[in-house]
Amino acid sequence: MENIKYHRILLKLSGEALAGPQQFGIDPHRALHIAERVREVRELGVDVAIVIGAGNLWRGREGLELGMDRATADYMGMLATVMNALALMDSLESLGVVTRVQSAVEMRSVAEPYIRRRAIRHLEKGRVVIFGGGTGNPYFSTDTAAALRAMEIGADVLIKATKVDGVYDSDPKKNPNAVKFDHLTYIDTLNRQLKVMDSTAISLCMENQLPILVLDLFDESALRGALVGQSVGTLVTA
Ligand code: UDP
Repeated sequence: MENIKYHRILLKLSGEALAGPQQFGIDPHRALHIAERVREVRELGVDVAIVIGAGNLWRGREGLELGMDRATADYMGMLATVMNALALMDSLESLGVVTRVQSAVEMRSVAEPYIRRRAIRHLEKGRVVIFGGGTGNPYFSTDTAAALRAMEIGADVLIKATKVDGVYDSDPKKNPNAVKFDHLTYIDTLNRQLKVMDSTAISLCMENQLPILVLDLFDESALRGALVGQSVGTLVTA
């Protein structure tokens, strides 16, 4: 039996994690790839909750740039996260992982409404809970939703899955000399404006002492490795 470092995780996936080669839309192959990583973690006995974004479909600020009302554009973004949540649900269920989707924006025919104690009960029963609809409020992001839900369900860590293997002092795709951090403090992250998550999300984690782990989801061993205590990605703590 392996030593498990975190027993309950909140996994934050950007919408683009589901996007196909055109960087847009939902690619079922990508969704399946993610689902496989989640299944591995479930097999370790770790409780898994997921918050998914919608950058692959719609972001509020795109609407703003087109002259739309910000709140309306944000609600469109929240609805888009529910589409992603259903795609992920479908992939997980196809692998035999039992899931429940809860939405912060009520739409009872496709998802349960978000009910904290019910979400916790699902986790206790070994179901993967996917939270759609962000926080349910415009002017927020799904990063903030992830921090909020992580706190509410008593997660041991918020895992932010990205396309890079941690946080760097500059963009590693543009600067070959970029240096990766193994560990950062919340304050450093905020002061240096490092692109971990938005500042509202980081502040919420800081106030509640919730560790953030940034890792590469497309490194097939990263997520599982982090949970069995390997040094993976960048850890942000006090
Ligand atoms: N959104 C919102 N409130 C929330 C979460 C999300 O209004 O609590 C909207 C916002 O417009 C955002 C969009 O939903 O741009 C998609 O979420 P996000 O940009 O966080 O997705 P990601 O970048 O993680 O794919």
